[in-house]
Amino acid sequence: MNQHIKSLSPRLANQIAAGEVVERPASVIKELLENSLDAGATRLDIDVEKGGIKRIKVRDNGKGIYREDLPLALARHATSKIYELDDLEAVGTLGFRGEALASISSVARLELTSSRDDSGKGWQVTAEGRDMEAQLQPAAHPRGTSVEVRDLFFNTPARRKFLRTEKTEFGRIDETVKRLALSRFDVAIHLRHNGKGVHNLRAGEARVEKERRVAQVCGPAFMENALHIDMERSGLRLWGWVAQPAFSRSQADLQFFYVNGRAIRDRVVTHAVRQAFADVLYHGRHPAFVLYLELDPASVDVNVHPTKHEVRFRDGRLVHDFLYSALHRALADVRPGDGSDSPA
Ligand code: ADP
Ligand code: MG
Repeated sequence: MNQHIKSLSPRLANQIAAGEVVERPASVIKELLENSLDAGATRLDIDVEKGGIKRIKVRDNGKGIYREDLPLALARHATSKIYELDDLEAVGTLGFRGEALASISSVARLELTSSRDDSGKGWQVTAEGRDMEAQLQPAAHPRGTSVEVRDLFFNTPARRKFLRTEKTEFGRIDETVKRLALSRFDVAIHLRHNGKGVHNLRAGEARVEKERRVAQVCGPAFMENALHIDMERSGLRLWGWVAQPAFSRSQADLQFFYVNGRAIRDRVVTHAVRQAFADVLYHGRHPAFVLYLELDPASVDVNVHPTKHEVRFRDGRLVHDFLYSALHRALADVRPGDGSDSPA
């Protein structure tokens, strides 16, 4: 093997980057949905075949992409979301690295179609895991954008081998869609798998509309057993739904927690919740909840890694105690014994 230094081809560089962003069909869906939301979409249509391995299609009614920008959308490090370093400080979009579409198109066959207006006419670019000489052609499309991704990892067999069964991969997709659905009640979401409707979620932010969506996502039994909570203290607010202990689960599969609207997994949160439920759940049972914590954005660091869901609280103790006592109080009425709210 010769030891000289050579620049990676754009294709190889993208395929390497794809290893971080595109792990499986669910990560493709997540990136596409985030792009749609960043474009201001209020309706998402997701169509998946064979667990997303064969085909994923996301259509939105967002603001669309200019014809001349279409090839750039597929290029690495090309984004419309930040233009200078200062923008990064106040980034309000879910994406900003300009990596997702480039990565996906380097390991799959990608078709991007978009229109900025109501003429019914738009433009399309396609790329098939080659260097980025995208083909631009006219195509019919309502205002908004569609991205179709076929044959994920067709050119990277080593990655393809890591994909699980169609059922498992679809399960991850469903999880991703549910997590998003519970963070954006204002967006209509439709999910189909192998031609069959899986979710059909209307938009609406009134309490009854939210509860209807929670019931659709978590099952009607969750909602029937749910306690609605809404508590505020020292600038922290916790609201949402917690299932009574009678509706505990054998797996931690109905646990949705959002901090300022972002789905997160966090040790402080997990610990506080587990403690609050400690004396009402049998060993090995898991609570079910859909909870939203709202606090001053300055008191929480949102990790901006593209795929991780981590945060760091400035005052973890305060958050922990607030969560614990809010949940403990919510469960007071169903707790055996005197039902009193002992201090945290
Ligand atoms: P990023 O989201 O980090 O900017 P992406 O590779 O995900 O990078 O997307 C590249 C660019 O393509 C975005 O900055 C945006 O301008 C455009 N784009 C992608 N998807 C959509 C969409 N659904 N609607 C409108 N524009 C989109
Ligand atoms: Mg993006």
